[in-house]
Amino acid sequence: MKTRKLAAFGLALAMSLSLFGSMAYAEEETETETEAELVITEDIQEIIDRGVLRVGVKNAVEGFGYQDTLTGEYSGMEIDIATMIAEELGVDVEFTTVTAATRTELLDSGDIDCVIATFTITDERRESWDFSTPYYTDHVTVLVKDSSEITTLEELVDATVGVSSGSTSARSLVEAMIEAEVISGDDYDAETFDAALWTEGVSFRQYDDYPAISTALEADEIDAFCVDKSILAIYKTEGRSYIDAEFAPQEYGVATTKDSGFSAYVDILINRWLDDGTIDGLIEEYALD
Ligand code: GLU
Repeated sequence: MKTRKLAAFGLALAMSLSLFGSMAYAEEETETETEAELVITEDIQEIIDRGVLRVGVKNAVEGFGYQDTLTGEYSGMEIDIATMIAEELGVDVEFTTVTAATRTELLDSGDIDCVIATFTITDERRESWDFSTPYYTDHVTVLVKDSSEITTLEELVDATVGVSSGSTSARSLVEAMIEAEVISGDDYDAETFDAALWTEGVSFRQYDDYPAISTALEADEIDAFCVDKSILAIYKTEGRSYIDAEFAPQEYGVATTKDSGFSAYVDILINRWLDDGTIDGLIEEYALD
């Protein structure tokens, strides 16, 4: 009797567990149903066969892509996203340090499979590369030496500003100055804008990388250093401050070769990690909010 009771209890437990199990499974199924399917296309198979996902990342943007100069180790949210994509593919990950000036060439030449490097999504860039859904939004600001006494966009008039070639920074600053009615913008044309030729209210010097801009600021070759706040953070040393303006939201996306199967694959993963809180977790972990 005792044994039968126990057996009956066991059966009931097993049934309820399996019912619970199938409910959980059903929920999982509904979730995966709403997510587009991860398809292994030919270009993705090449990465799998190679056994390595090659990713272009930054090496001096703390919390995003940062390389420890002693250990050579990379860390940050963008490093983690790259590592998670590689894990999903079942391959290793290899990082290549890129700058705003080199990242697209390396992608176009096939040296890297994707760029995860504070790369702002713009309509113009979308014509040449695919971008995932944004995983982070930053803003542009301007770093100056305190001794310059520049604190606002108005006081930036007539300044020479250092920007990185291949970046959105110069255009963002000019648009912000026009919007703030600091300059008229009569000569501004979004289609033809060229930082090298712009002279109304502000002029630009373009550099290949950010350390060079920081050095130029120290040497008073330029009056200000303009780029995304995330990138500027490491150069905001003693005696330097941001001006009192943040503008031009910069949505960062993973860039991949246009119309490649890998673009769709990466976008599904980014959406999954946006939906399940993974991206929020990274933003919190690296104190990026
Ligand atoms: N995020 C900006 C851009 O994509 C600044 C440049 C950079 O990422 O280095 O143009």
